[in-house]
Amino acid sequence: MVSADLLVVGSGFFGLTVAERAAERGLKVLVIDRRDHLGGNAYSETDPETGIEVHRYGAHLFHTSNERVWEYVNRFTDFTDYEHRVYTTHRGEVFPLPINLGTVNQFFRSAHGPDAARALLAEQADEFDSSTARNLEEKGISLIGRPLYEAFIRDYTAKQWQTDPTELPPEVISRLPVRYTYDNRYFNDTHEGLPVDGYTAWLERMADHPGIEVRLSTDFFDEGQEANKSATVGVVPVVYTGPVDRYFDYAEGRLSWRTLDFESEVLPIGDFQGTPVMNYADSDTAYTRIHEFRHFHPERDYRSDKTIIMREFSRFAEGDDEPYYPVNTPEDRERLLAYRRRTESESGVLFGGRLGTYQYLDMHMAIGSALSMVDNQLPDLLPSLAGD
Ligand code: FAD
Ligand code: UDP
Repeated sequence: MVSADLLVVGSGFFGLTVAERAAERGLKVLVIDRRDHLGGNAYSETDPETGIEVHRYGAHLFHTSNERVWEYVNRFTDFTDYEHRVYTTHRGEVFPLPINLGTVNQFFRSAHGPDAARALLAEQADEFDSSTARNLEEKGISLIGRPLYEAFIRDYTAKQWQTDPTELPPEVISRLPVRYTYDNRYFNDTHEGLPVDGYTAWLERMADHPGIEVRLSTDFFDEGQEANKSATVGVVPVVYTGPVDRYFDYAEGRLSWRTLDFESEVLPIGDFQGTPVMNYADSDTAYTRIHEFRHFHPERDYRSDKTIIMREFSRFAEGDDEPYYPVNTPEDRERLLAYRRRTESESGVLFGGRLGTYQYLDMHMAIGSALSMVDNQLPDLLPSLAGD
């Protein structure tokens, strides 16, 4: 019998935010995670050979314009003044991203100002109207025209999603801004930075509360451990942040996910690529990008004779692969609706986070939606919270 007021399944940012807020209000919270470390996909660790902080599940850059989230995260960590910038290699030449005046002028060997560049791309983009674009390809062409779309978006997207861009939703590409200035900051948000002493220190501080117990290597669906599904649902309130289809035993079919394979390599040089992330736009390079982690923390005194790089490959998730990005085909969206109906009638359980809602959530979005859940939904599950 679990002796806690609340069971949180999953110790990613969503689960830890719910746990921390509930514990701060006097509740006893048990957090379980099937992995042998806390923190979900934001977890990072020091590479033993180089001493460089490596983000095990892919590079994580924190950015937000949500003041409430920014105030909240600053309780647990300070942030460096890191600003993310990305470059891409196309046919042996390096261009700045996101598409900006520098990219346009380098690509067309021109010296356009903002208005001329805008006019050029508008002319190249008039095949499709941005507001009625039905898929990623139409949206991409309507935003930047066919030549830039084919150079920087089409093959990269096909590598990343293994789905024809005409079958992907237009929103995927809307994440990337297009700028008619030379500003090549990747994110538009008000606040940006990396945790001064690393992600894991930040995540551990969130869990470091006398009201919180964390049990690692503990799977909710393992009947052999105390805090399993059949022993807890209906007995203790549960916030579940694992995959929603797994919770219902895939009764409505499997939701499709993309997974990533990361190939790390330590090199006997101080600097491999001179920048944190280099994308590879062309189909003849199998990986989508290379991360070089030392560049995320130029303020740190890392050794200068070795560096660690990580090549990122993308493919459909199968079996036990880690689910990373929801693919979101029309069939997925149908299935998701069916799962949503099931979650609504599952009493005593709230579903949240990236996996629990089948939504791509940035860290600040996961934290923001967890804060909203604590305000708006948790009091129904835990009457002792109401009126706080
Ligand atoms: P997760 O971090 O996935 O945590 C869910 C946890 O639940 C996991 O620890 C898992 O082990 C656990 N769990 C699942 N099933 C069970 C079970 N049966 N029993 C027990 N535990 C279970 N966001 C940004 O803001 N900036 C970025 O640059 C960025 N880069 C990203 C790069 C990649 C490759 C990926 C995949 C994501 C990136 N994100 C980024 C998103 C970020 O990782 C998420 O916002 C964050 O992880 C969401 O937290 P979560 O708690 O919802 O999910
Ligand atoms: N994208 C692209 N070329 C690039 C970078 C991104 O076509 O060089 C597209 C691609 O479809 C990708 C989407 O833009 O899925 C969002 O890119 P982002 O870098 O935000 O993706 P993430 O870092 O989440 O993988």
